[in-house]
Amino acid sequence: MTETSESAGLDFIRQGIVDWLKKAPDGAQVVTRFPPEPNGYLHIGHAKAICLNFGISEEYGGPCFLRFDDTNPLKEDQAYADAIVKDVHWLGFDWGDRLTHASDYYPHFYDCALQLIHAGKAYVDSLNGDEIREYRGTLKEPGRNSPYRDRSVEESLELFAAMRAGDFADGEVCLRARIDMASPNINMRDPILYRIRKAAHQRTGDEWCIYPMYDFAHPISDALEGITHSLCTLEFEDHRPLYNWVIDNLDFEARPRQIEFSRLNLAYTITSKRKLLQLIEEGVVAGWDDPRMPTLAGMRRRGYTPAAIRDFCGRVGITKKENIIQMGVLENSVREDLGESAHRVMAVLDPLKVTLTNWPGDKVEMHTAQNHPAYPEMGEREIPLTREIYIERDDFMEDPPRKFFRLRPGGEVRLRYGYIIKCEQVIKDDNGNIIELLCSYDPDTRSGGDNQRKVKGTIHWVSATESLPAEVRLYDRLFSVPRPDADSSGRDFREFLNPDSLQVMHGCRVEASLASADDAAVQFERTGYFVRDPLDSRANKLVFNRVVTLRDSWAKLEKQDVAQA
Ligand code: ATP
Ligand code: MG
Repeated sequence: MTETSESAGLDFIRQGIVDWLKKAPDGAQVVTRFPPEPNGYLHIGHAKAICLNFGISEEYGGPCFLRFDDTNPLKEDQAYADAIVKDVHWLGFDWGDRLTHASDYYPHFYDCALQLIHAGKAYVDSLNGDEIREYRGTLKEPGRNSPYRDRSVEESLELFAAMRAGDFADGEVCLRARIDMASPNINMRDPILYRIRKAAHQRTGDEWCIYPMYDFAHPISDALEGITHSLCTLEFEDHRPLYNWVIDNLDFEARPRQIEFSRLNLAYTITSKRKLLQLIEEGVVAGWDDPRMPTLAGMRRRGYTPAAIRDFCGRVGITKKENIIQMGVLENSVREDLGESAHRVMAVLDPLKVTLTNWPGDKVEMHTAQNHPAYPEMGEREIPLTREIYIERDDFMEDPPRKFFRLRPGGEVRLRYGYIIKCEQVIKDDNGNIIELLCSYDPDTRSGGDNQRKVKGTIHWVSATESLPAEVRLYDRLFSVPRPDADSSGRDFREFLNPDSLQVMHGCRVEASLASADDAAVQFERTGYFVRDPLDSRANKLVFNRVVTLRDSWAKLEKQDVAQA
């Protein structure tokens, strides 16, 4: 990247687009695409690619295609395609009428193959898979020509037609490009263009029994759609000569160019669809939308917002350098977004009963609470204070250290939006466990009233009789090491699962206002951000997911990881 492009604040791809537009003829448009394979759910890495391709489309005014790269019927499923459509929309992007499929172009791929055979640039090979691998050579040694490489055009045409007609079994023959078996780039050693796969395709059924390889189908799809910038991740860099070979040897008006950028790698998780599927199949997680999963569906259920994910993708930026992004960066984007938008409520996760001994009987007194301390326009609500309340168990200590400003025997604390209370007596069960506190309240200290006597601590609470029971699920990192799938000693990624990635808390109590809460996340004051679980929560059994903690408790640990890396 040059200094000028950096000073303009553009990444190298956008800078390239600006330069390209300057030279392009009037009216030229940047055309991009996001090409997922429908063999799993989208994850945070895909979000980066989506934000890049659709972002460029928005910024430079050209179209962006959502194209399913559906050339392997054995692994793909329409249900995955449907989930992908939903997730890209949810993330905030729209492709208009440009939803396409590689399978839309099967007749074109076939025509292109015929063109190459006619031109002597492709041939049907009768070596089997093992033999092809053997002939391919290694990084150090050149490959050898297949004995079938010099087949006549006529013979190849005939055999290719027979392949198409289903006359061969899977793997018996294939179509290969005739390029260079001695190329230092193994991708150029007569790569396979078409293989036989007698499997029904989710969209084309049994119409085809030969399927094109990615390296053949992708450049042609790009050319057919008039893609100008075909953006992909760095592992395709070595495939670029083949991409160009396909374009150069076929007769297209469009000249798409492939440009590579580094993958997004997120610490303490994995983004391989195959491995994520393994976690689901083995029951380690509840599904693609388990809130611990790095999938868009999982993050949605977890309460992450599209705005936060887009913000995160903007922050990690686009470069050619491989790197690992700390989970804390993503969580900070979530925290920042929710810090602005989430309503504040009170909830007690680990309740300890407090009885206000001088409170008049069953009186219910309403106290006004703000929905957001910084934004009065977000409104207020009334919360009931009663004789029996719950406070957080760890907001009381019988024998606290000096700087403990919450409740202690004989000590005082303010109830948020309520009164100052004083702990008069601690009640224990036969085993010595604290089961209740008897407190008095000072009626002259009503929050917002005239008497603003000060105490050091303020704690949250809910009425015991006017609150609702809830289950609360606390999530943590899915893995306990930063790079579970890149262990140098070769250990399996599943050995690094974090056994404490999910903690379920029963018997929590939440403000009654949450009975009618919508799908938006809220802040439980002093505790974190939470969202109602969209699947398991019911009117008579509330379930909340912790979206993110209030502070980044991993920051220190992750700094060490980076220092060690
Ligand atoms: P997997 O190897 O797990 O199957 P994939 O990369 O093959 O994943 P695709 O559906 O082919 O999955 O990906 C669609 C697009 O998303 C590709 O252009 C790919 O480069 C991009 N992409 C996938 N993973 C990442 C990532 N971690 N960071 C950035 N872009 C990614
Ligand atoms: Mg892929």
